[in-house]
Amino acid sequence: MGSNPVAELRHIHKVYGSGDTEVRAVNDLNLTVEAGDYIAVMGASGSGKSTAMNILGCLDRPSSGSYLLQGQQVDGLSDDALAILRNRCLGFVFQQFHLLGHLSAQENVELPMVYANVPAEERQQRAVEALQRVGLGQRLRNKPNQLSGGQQQRVAIARAIINRPALLLADEPTGALDSETTADVLEIFDQLNGDGMTVVLVTHEHDVAERAKQRVLFRDGRIAN
Ligand code: ADP
Ligand code: MG
Repeated sequence: MGSNPVAELRHIHKVYGSGDTEVRAVNDLNLTVEAGDYIAVMGASGSGKSTAMNILGCLDRPSSGSYLLQGQQVDGLSDDALAILRNRCLGFVFQQFHLLGHLSAQENVELPMVYANVPAEERQQRAVEALQRVGLGQRLRNKPNQLSGGQQQRVAIARAIINRPALLLADEPTGALDSETTADVLEIFDQLNGDGMTVVLVTHEHDVAERAKQRVLFRDGRIAN
């Protein structure tokens, strides 16, 4: 089997604080994510899952270690270069959706394309298509506070994938949802991965993790299994 790594973490450490208050949030983590993978990350609260996801998503920098994203060395890039990388290569879905409250569903999905200089007409067309794909074609003009939690998370997923990222990261994406809307959201992740999207998802729910192709267990800032 030829390997085609999207993301490679090597000897990643993340240390918060120093001295008596030092916390080793991630402690010599090694992880390879191959193209087409669908990985569920599990582990106790405080085991470093979110820290690792934030590093994978270039939302945070490791204290030491090496990160290759699509073969490109990420550590050492400037903040501006990382912002471009996040916009072009990475999608992130959060437990609390993190939509912009003053923007409509369509405008939220258009935003990453604004930063990517996609022309207005194409932006609109792609945002509408993406929202139709997640079943929200009738909710384009609604603001987040006019949408249910599950609908907001579907907008957030559409936003995360709108620039066709190489890697979709989701940190407890169903943690704030009831079981019915959880099923809707998981169906979307299944479809995206079926279409070739590489997905890494954090969850503490075993039935959510079962949907992934592969499960890894975090313990004390690294993978235990
Ligand atoms: P998980 O997502 O698995 O619950 P986290 O990655 O959020 O774990 O946290 C791992 C450890 O790092 C925890 O002990 C947490 O308290 C600590 N931690 C996380 N973020 C910070 C921060 N910004 N400052 C200090 N400690 C932090
Ligand atoms: Mg967490």
